[in-house]
Amino acid sequence: MSVITIEQAGSYDGQEVTLQGWLYNLRESGKLLFPIFRDGTGIMQGVCAQKEQPEAFAALRGLTQESSVIVTGKIRAEKRAPGGYEIGVTKLEVVQRVSESDPYPIQLKEHGVDFLLDRRHLWIRTPRQAAILRIRAEAVRAARQFMDGQGYTLTDAPIFTPAACEGTTSLFEVQYIDEEKAYLTQSGQLYVEATAMALGKVYTFGPTFRAEKSKTRRHLTEFWMLEPEAAFADLGDMMELGEGLVSHVVQSVLKNRVRELETLKRDTAKLASVQAPFPRISYDEAIEILQKSGNPAKYGDDFGGDEETILSSQYDRPVIVHRYPAAIKAFYMQPDPLRPDLALGFDMLAPEGYGEIIGGGQRIHDYDLLVRRLKEHNLPEEPFQWYLDLRRYGSVPHAGFGLGLERTVAWICGTEHIREVIPFPRMIYRVYP
Ligand code: ATP
Ligand code: MG
Repeated sequence: MSVITIEQAGSYDGQEVTLQGWLYNLRESGKLLFPIFRDGTGIMQGVCAQKEQPEAFAALRGLTQESSVIVTGKIRAEKRAPGGYEIGVTKLEVVQRVSESDPYPIQLKEHGVDFLLDRRHLWIRTPRQAAILRIRAEAVRAARQFMDGQGYTLTDAPIFTPAACEGTTSLFEVQYIDEEKAYLTQSGQLYVEATAMALGKVYTFGPTFRAEKSKTRRHLTEFWMLEPEAAFADLGDMMELGEGLVSHVVQSVLKNRVRELETLKRDTAKLASVQAPFPRISYDEAIEILQKSGNPAKYGDDFGGDEETILSSQYDRPVIVHRYPAAIKAFYMQPDPLRPDLALGFDMLAPEGYGEIIGGGQRIHDYDLLVRRLKEHNLPEEPFQWYLDLRRYGSVPHAGFGLGLERTVAWICGTEHIREVIPFPRMIYRVYP
């Protein structure tokens, strides 16, 4: 007999199979039981009649939610069942029975989000949460597949770092060995600039940390970033790479995670139009659009959530905003030769109000200019000596960006808050469980 997953049930119509999982729900109706099983790949409805299967019936009756089980039965097509198939239970083995006196805390009703976050280790079992995590995994798989296919080599950046790269206010300081201090990385960028000079086209994909003091729907203190960097590349190359990457990730999820998107009731028509090329507007044009729509933004302002929502709502796919004033961007951004007050940087804003998913651009490759910028930003030179070496020894124009994984997955899933798309979210007031 085949041990299968619920996801595979469609290929076993009419056959007797075994499933391994948990009892998600049980409806009892006299001499008939209607369990719902889950196994991590999906949920499946079952039927068990006392007359035909007295032993399985006895094992199943009164069984508590989330008890672990091994179920045997015949798969049959059933249009009304979730997933299109159900199982006629012939045998049921209980692996561990959840005690009646200490029932599973998450019932099949609405719970408050703090209640659920406190029980995140259990909450992830619910079909909606499992679907989100499976989509996240598909997004990661597709992103890496795309980058590898473009000739980029994965080079992992360190997590302990000696200095900040995205501003000092959001740094997590840690006690390193003896008296030394280190910081958790805010971005792997400076390090992939080094590996790009060694390998040409590279990326890092790992966790990054920012002590974000603002409580928003799109900020975590620990989040994952995919950061490509390429030698001999410019702003245009990175805008193109970014739209290719995002299109590929979205189209892969649409193709390979159909059931999960259904579970989330995601409007997939909105995702289907996410295909490169994406619209591109300059910062100047963005300000004009904002002012026309009655937003108080004035030239020189950075954009917050409201501005990003107005800008992205004009399009059916992500929009790229490029050439921001250098004054509101990081110290390493290359100035536009035509207008040195502008930085050769870009942000990609997701549709439907999900905000910035990518930030990046061209880096300063001139030694003197970079030293000047460090001074202007009141950053110490000492910890950046290795970074300055990259401008001393064979410097070349280069560019890259950072794609926020959770922002991207939250948008693809259509979740209200970014906290649902990472297995164990870390936020300003939460490090448990
Ligand atoms: P924002 O202004 O929206 O806070 P940022 O400009 O500080 O973002 P970048 O430094 O450009 O962000 O980081 C690159 C990407 O990482 C962002 O486009 C976003 O997708 C993601 N990101 C940044 N901060 C966070 C965070 N606190 N939580 C989750 N994702 C984040
Ligand atoms: Mg940014």
